[in-house]
Amino acid sequence: MRVPVVAGNWKMNPATLDEAVALAGAVQDAATTASTITTVICPPTIWLADLQRTLRTDGVAIGAQTMHFDERGAFTGETSPLMLNGLATFVILGHSERRQFDGETDERVGRKVASAVAHGLRPIAAVGERGEERRAGQTASVIDRQLRAAIGGLDRLGGTGLVIAYEPVWAIGTGDAASAADAQEVCAQIRQILRETGADAADEVPIQYGGSVTAENAAELFAQPDIDGALVGGASLKPDQFAAILRAAALA
Ligand code: PEP
Repeated sequence: MRVPVVAGNWKMNPATLDEAVALAGAVQDAATTASTITTVICPPTIWLADLQRTLRTDGVAIGAQTMHFDERGAFTGETSPLMLNGLATFVILGHSERRQFDGETDERVGRKVASAVAHGLRPIAAVGERGEERRAGQTASVIDRQLRAAIGGLDRLGGTGLVIAYEPVWAIGTGDAASAADAQEVCAQIRQILRETGADAADEVPIQYGGSVTAENAAELFAQPDIDGALVGGASLKPDQFAAILRAAALA
């Protein structure tokens, strides 16, 4: 019904093209053993064109880490959906680091998701509560607000290729992953909101968990009924770790 998506978010790594090519090659070797899932690498924008040329065409899809919603204009440093055409299949939107450091608001995430779909890109729309919001019992309301804003510009869910990533901010890069039960609870809430919005098509949408996913915790997370893969940061830079996560997703 839906194919799990495991995506590696390389963030601002690695520092050289040679290292990026080597890492992509290692992921591609691992991905061939995990063909029942979709494997994605999201390198820095500057490496997209080279990796698109270098990668063999099977096994691994390429994603961008962000984009602007407009096609062109006076937006210094930005990348437009037209520029990603042919270079990326996926694009991460609304990552908490961009919300925190780059002024990515709910409203802008919604415009970006709609623009990505309009330009044939599969958005990976990230939502997640901060630690203080969790402690204040606001997780459900934060997820509700961010998710409805993210998909609010879509006139349908079916056929959009949408992926949602549930990434509790307190779990990102901390080694302190959400428990499988807690992650499942939020992912089930996400599925419910998708159902209210897009009815049957909600079951097509892969919902990833992200936040300190490792080779050790991946299998338990992927065993949850509403977790369909992962958005992986740190472990995606370690080919052995990422390969083990891919295998866990393929077996789930
Ligand atoms: C991320 O940055 O999206 C992420 C989940 O990072 P990490 O896996 O390192 O927690």
